[in-house]
Amino acid sequence: KEQAKWSKETLALWEKYGVGESDDKEAIQKSFIRHVTTTLARSMFNIDNFSAYQATAHTVRDRLIQRWNDTQQTYTEVDPKRVYYLSLEFLLGRSLDNALLNLGLKESCGGFRMEDILDQEVDAALGNGGLGRLAACYMDSLASLDYPAWGYGLRYTYGIFQQRLKDGYQVEFPDYWLNFDNPWELPRLDIVIDVQFCGSVSRYTDENERVRHVWEGTEIVQAIAYDVPIPGYGTKNCINIRLWSSKPERQFDLNRFNEGQYEQAVQEQMKAENITAVLYPNDNHMVGKELRLKQQYFWVAANTHPTLAIVELQRILVDLEGLDWDDAWGIVTRTFAFTNHTILPEAMERWPVPMVSYLLPRHMQIIFDINLFFLQKVEKAYPNDREMLAKLSIIEESSPQFVRMAHLAIVGSHRVNGIFKDFVGFYGDKKFENKTNGITPRRWLHQANPKLSNLITEALGNKDWLKNLYLLKGLEKCVGDKTFRKRWVTVKHSNKVRLADYINKCTGINVNPNALFDVQVKRIHEYKRQFMNILSVIHRYNILKKMDTKERAKAVPRVVIFGGKAAPGYYIAKLVIKLINSVAQVVNKDISIENTLKVVFIPDYNVSVAEIIIPASDISQHISTAGTEASGTSNMKFVLNGGLILGTVDGANIEIHEEIGDDNIFMFGHLADRVDDLRHAHRYRNVPMDPALQAIVNDIESGHFGDSRIFAPLINTLTHGKDYYLISDDFESYLNAQNLVDEAYKDQEGWSKKSILCAANMGKFSSEEREDNF
Ligand code: PLP
Repeated sequence: KEQAKWSKETLALWEKYGVGESDDKEAIQKSFIRHVTTTLARSMFNIDNFSAYQATAHTVRDRLIQRWNDTQQTYTEVDPKRVYYLSLEFLLGRSLDNALLNLGLKESCGGFRMEDILDQEVDAALGNGGLGRLAACYMDSLASLDYPAWGYGLRYTYGIFQQRLKDGYQVEFPDYWLNFDNPWELPRLDIVIDVQFCGSVSRYTDENERVRHVWEGTEIVQAIAYDVPIPGYGTKNCINIRLWSSKPERQFDLNRFNEGQYEQAVQEQMKAENITAVLYPNDNHMVGKELRLKQQYFWVAANTHPTLAIVELQRILVDLEGLDWDDAWGIVTRTFAFTNHTILPEAMERWPVPMVSYLLPRHMQIIFDINLFFLQKVEKAYPNDREMLAKLSIIEESSPQFVRMAHLAIVGSHRVNGIFKDFVGFYGDKKFENKTNGITPRRWLHQANPKLSNLITEALGNKDWLKNLYLLKGLEKCVGDKTFRKRWVTVKHSNKVRLADYINKCTGINVNPNALFDVQVKRIHEYKRQFMNILSVIHRYNILKKMDTKERAKAVPRVVIFGGKAAPGYYIAKLVIKLINSVAQVVNKDISIENTLKVVFIPDYNVSVAEIIIPASDISQHISTAGTEASGTSNMKFVLNGGLILGTVDGANIEIHEEIGDDNIFMFGHLADRVDDLRHAHRYRNVPMDPALQAIVNDIESGHFGDSRIFAPLINTLTHGKDYYLISDDFESYLNAQNLVDEAYKDQEGWSKKSILCAANMGKFSSEEREDNF
C-alpha cells in the first residue's frame, strides 16, 4: 500500500540503490573510514580510542537504523496488536558491544583495540537499580522474540549520579552522559506533544444536556521525542524505546527581554527544561516531590497512554472524545495491566491530594470519581465494613489526604502482577498473578562472560541456548568430566584476574585471584543489609588475627567486594559505605593476617561495572531481611555465571533455590512469617543482642575502625533503633552459613561441580522462554 504511493522515479532509485549497508567485513571497514573522515571530520592517521569508538558506533548505527526502519515499516503494514512497556527508568548501560553481538557484527568488527574502544562508551544510566535494569532486559527479550513492542520513558539530561569516594565517604557528581554526541538515539525534533499543567476546571452542559468538563488556563510544556533502537538477537526485529525530553513552549519571553529583564525572560525555559533534567536517585523509596509528579504526568501525557495514565486516558475519552463514563472506563481497564515492583511500604507511591489538585486539577476530580464508583462496589460486597472501605480506598484519609497510586493502578487494570491480599479478597484471585522476573542471557553471559559463553557453546554443540536458556540443562552431563570442570574453573579464574586488574586500577588495592571472591553489589539499603555483611567481615578479621600462622595457612583466603550507590539523602546508607571503607583500611594494611582477608569497595557501581564483577564471583550475597526484597535480579546473573549464592529465604533466592537444589546454595536466616513476631519482641521486650554481634559492636565503639562517634547513628539502628532489619536475630545463622561456604570452597572439585550445576539450572530465569509459555 505504501509503495503504491511512491512515484516511479522514487521506486526506480530504491530498486537501484536500496539503503542496504552490507554486514561483511569489507563494507564495515569502508563505513568506519567514511565515518572517521566525514562524520567526525578527522584523518585516519590521527584517531584516538574515543574517535574509533564514535566511528564504530556510527557504523553499527547505520545498520541498526536499517533494521529499525524495516521493523517499523512492517508494523505499519501488518498493524498487529502492540505491547507498550511504560517505565520511568531504563537502565540500559552501554550499547555498542550489545549491538555488535545481537546484530552478528562482532566478528566483522573485531580485532583492533576492540576492548579499549568498547571502554570509551558512557553508560546510559537512566535508572536506579533492579527496576530500571529489568525494563532493559525485557526490551532485549521483546525484541529477540519478535514482539511488536515499544518502550516509553524519559530522557533525563542527568542520569543516576556518579559516585566517588572521599575519605571513605560517598560523594555525588553529576552524570554528564550527553556531553558527547550520543549515537544511540535518533532525535525526532518534529514529534512534539503539548503537555498541560495547573490551570482550572470549568463545567458546562452540552447540547445533549450532558455535563462536560474543560481544563483551561494551563501552563504548557512541550515533550520532544528521542528514539533508541533496541535490536533483537538473531532476528531482524529492532524495537524502539521512545524517551521524552522537556522543552518550553516558547524559547523566551520577548517582551521581558526587550524590557531588559533578561533573567525573567528565560525563566519559563528553565522551568520547562527542569522537568526532564534529573533522574530521582532513590531506589525503593518514594519521595513526594512536586517535580517528580510533574515528571510522571509529563511522560504520561506525551505517551497518551504508569498509573496516572489510567486517569489521563479516562480524561481524554470522557472530556475530549465525549464518551460516557462507563464506556470510557471499560476501555481504560481493558488497556492497562500493572506490575508492582516493591513490597516496602516506604516505596509505595502516594501523592498529597492538594499537590495533585494544584498541578492536575481535572485528574484529581476524575480520581475522586473513580474511587467513588469503586467504593460503592466495595460497600456492596462488604456492607457496613468501614475498615475494609478505608483499607481499599484509593484515597488515604489522613491530613492531608493522599492518593494511593498502587490502589489506583489495581482498580484501573485488568491484570495485576503482584499479590495484594485485601484486593484479592475483593476481586478474587483471577486478576492477580506472580510473574518471576528474568534477565537477558545475551548481555549477562554472552557479552559479559565471552569465555564462558564459548565453553558452553562448545559443550552444547551450538548457540541455541542463547535463545532457549533451558538448553543449559545439557551442561549437567559435563559435571562428571574432569577436563571440562578444569576448563570451567580456568574461565572463572581468568574473570577473577580481569576483576583483580579492575580493582587495582580503580582502588589501588591488590587482591589475589586465587582467593574466594565474595561479592555484594547492589544499591546500599538497610533492608539489603550490607551492614550485616561488613559486621561479619570484622568478625572474620578478629578470628584471623587470633589464629597462629599454622591455623591461618588452613583458612580460605577471601576478598570481600562491595559496590553500590546510596541515595544522596539516605544518611544511614552513606554511613554503611563509610564503615566498609574504614574496615577496609584497617584490614588491608594489617600484614599480620598474611593476605587472608581483603576488603574492597568498588566505586560507581553501574551496569558496565556489573559486567566485570558478576562473571568473577565465587559467592555473591543476597541477604535482605525475609519479606523485603520483591525479587532481585542480580542473584540470577551471578548464578548464571557459575557463582554460588549466600542468601536469605527472600525474593527470587527462593525460586533459584527450587531450581538448583539444596546442595548448590547457602541459605540462612529467619523466614518471613517470623519477622513480625521478632520485630514485636525487639520493640516491647529487651531482647539481648547476639553475643558475637555484641563483641563486634564493642570493637567498633572502642575506636578500632576510626572515630567511633561517626558510626554511633549506625550502631543505634541495632541498639536504640530496635534492629528493624533483624541483624541480631539472623547473625548466628549467617556466621554458620559463612563457615559452610569456607568448608565447601576447600573442596575445589566439589565447588566446580556446584558451579556448573548452578548455571545448568537457570533456564527459568531468562527474561523470555519459560515453562509457562509452552
Ligand atoms: N544496579 C545495577 C547497576 C545492576 O546491574 C543491577 C542488576 O544487575 C542492579 C542494580 C540490581 O541488583 P539487585 O537485584 O542485587 O538489587
